Amino acid sequence: MPPTSIPATSDIVLIGAGIMSATLGTLLKELDPSLRIAMLETLDDCGQESSQAWNNAGTGHAANCELNYTPQRPDGSVDISRALEVNTEFDLSRQLWSYLVKKGAITDPRAFLHPCPHMSLVWGKENVEFLRARYKAMSAHHCYHGMDYSEDHKQIAGWAPLTMEGRDPNQPVAATRIITGTDVDYGSLTHLLVAHLSAQPGFSVHYKQHVVGLEREGSARWRVEIKDIESGDAHSVLSRFVFIGAGGDALPLLQKSRIPEGHGYGGFPVSGIWLRCDVSAISDRHHAKVYGKAAEGSPPMSVPHLDTRIIGGKKSLLFGPYAGFSTKFLKHGSLTDLFRSIEPGNIFPMMAVARDNIALSEYLIGQVLQTSAHQFAMLQQFFPWAKRHDWREAVAGQRVQIIKPDPQHTGVLEFGTELIGATDQSLVALLGASPGASTATFIAIEVLQKCFPDELTESAWLSRLRQIIPTYGIDLKADADACRRIRADTAVALKVDNV
Ligand SMILES: Cc1cc2nc3c(=O)[nH]c(=O)nc-3n(C[C@H](O)[C@H](O)[C@H](O)COP(=O)(O)OP(=O)(O)OC[C@H]3O[C@@H](n4cnc5c(N)ncnc54)[C@H](O)[C@@H]3O)c2cc1C
Repeated sequence: MPPTSIPATSDIVLIGAGIMSATLGTLLKELDPSLRIAMLETLDDCGQESSQAWNNAGTGHAANCELNYTPQRPDGSVDISRALEVNTEFDLSRQLWSYLVKKGAITDPRAFLHPCPHMSLVWGKENVEFLRARYKAMSAHHCYHGMDYSEDHKQIAGWAPLTMEGRDPNQPVAATRIITGTDVDYGSLTHLLVAHLSAQPGFSVHYKQHVVGLEREGSARWRVEIKDIESGDAHSVLSRFVFIGAGGDALPLLQKSRIPEGHGYGGFPVSGIWLRCDVSAISDRHHAKVYGKAAEGSPPMSVPHLDTRIIGGKKSLLFGPYAGFSTKFLKHGSLTDLFRSIEPGNIFPMMAVARDNIALSEYLIGQVLQTSAHQFAMLQQFFPWAKRHDWREAVAGQRVQIIKPDPQHTGVLEFGTELIGATDQSLVALLGASPGASTATFIAIEVLQKCFPDELTESAWLSRLRQIIPTYGIDLKADADACRRIRADTAVALKVDNV
C-alpha cells in the first residue's frame, strides 16, 4: 500500500527537493494556485545536496567578479557578452525573491541573503593588464555601473585587508570591486520556498522517497515509480508533467525515461573541497567574495576564491574549491554512479571527451595528487598570512558536467546547464550545474517557455508572470532605464546596497 499522503495522481511531479525544484514549484503555484504538485525527495529534508549552504560558495552569481565569464580576445580586448547574460539572469532571481518578500511569503530576506562586495583580484603584470582591459569594457556598460578599479596596494587593502597584509609591496596587483554583490544561503532559501509551498493546498513534499523509474502511461502522462527508503515498499504517482530536478542524479533519471531527446548524453562528475575558517577574529576582518584567476585546464567552477559566508547568523571564510575526481553523481550517491550511466548510446561521446580534454584530465589528476601543503600554499597567494591551524577541510558538493552528443566531434564537454525535454512537453530534465543556484529563476522561466507555451499567454499566465517578474520580456542588457529601476526596487526589498 502506498503511504496515504502520496497522491495517486498529480498535475506536476518535481523530482528532488533542491533549489531548482523549489523555485520551479514556487513559480508554478504562483501562476496557477489550483495546480496539484508532488515533490519527491530521497533524503529526509530539502536542500541537503548541492543546494545545502556549505556545498556551494553561495555567490549570487551576477558575473561581477568571476573571470572565467570574460575571456580575452587575441587583440587584448575582453569579451563581456557571457558575463552580461549571467548578470541579467541573476536579476530574475532578485525579482522573484523580492516578490516573495513583498507578499510576506519570506518574512526577512536576511534569512538567506546578505550584502557582500564582489571582487576580482590578480597579480603579475600580464594579469593586471587583463583586469584593466576587463574593467574598461565592463564599467562602460550600465549593467556594471558602480564598479571600482584599483592597482594601489593601500586602496585594495582598504577593500580586503587580509589579501594585502604580508604581500610584496612591489608586486603588481589589480582589483575590481562591486559593492552590490551578495552572499546567498541557498539551503535556507530552499527551506523557505518549500515551507511556503507546503502551506498551500495541492502541494505535498514526500521525503525518503526515491524515484526509481519513469514509464509513459498513454500518450500524455508519466508513471513515476518510487521506492520508500525506510519500508522498501514500491508505489507510483501518475502525472501529466515531470521535472527532473535531481541534481547529479538527473542524468540517470533522464536515461530511465528513454525519451529520444536524451539519447547520447553522458556525465562527468567533478567533486570539490573547501578550506573553511570559523575563527571570528579572522572572518570579521574580511567582507567580500574575492575571485582570482583559474589555473590552466581547470573547469570553470574551480576558479579559486576567498569568500565571506554568512550562515545561520555566523560569519566564516571559505577558500577553494579544489577540484577532485569521484565517480559519485551526488554527495550521498554511489561510487558506481558513473559506471551505471555508461550505455551504448553515450560511450562514443564519453570517449571523445576523454580524448579531447587532456588539459582537464591533467588538471584533475594534479588536484587529486596535491598535498594539503600545496593546497594551503594556494590560499596563501590570496591571504599571505593565513595560518594552517585556523583552517579545516570541508566537502563541497558534486557537480556532474554534461557530455553532449555532437555530430561533428562525437561528444563535447559542457560546463553550463541544459534543459532536455520531451517533444510533447510532458517531461524535462535539468543537466549540469553552472552558473547554478543563483540562476534558478531563469531556469524555471525557461522550463515554462519550453513546456508550458500554451499557458504563457495574455489570457492565462502572462500578466501574473509580469507581476512576479516585472521585467519579463525586457532585455536588461539593452534597456538601461529598466535595469536601473528594477535594481533600485529589488535592492530595497532585499535590503542590499544599490549604486
Ligand atoms: C563546489 C560548488 C560550488 C558552487 N557554488 C555556487 C555558487 O557560488 N553560486 C551558485 O549559484 N551555485 C553554485 N553551485 C551550484 C549549485 O550548488 C547548484 O547549481 C544547485 O544547488 C543545484 O540545485 P538542484 O536543485 O538542481 O540540485 P540539488 O541541490 O543537488 O538537489 C537535487 C535533489 O534531488 C534529490 N534526488 C536525486 N535523485 C533522486 C531520486 N532518484 N529520487 C528523489 N530525489 C532525488 C537529491 O537528494 C537532492 O536533494 C556550486 C556547486 C558546487 C558543487
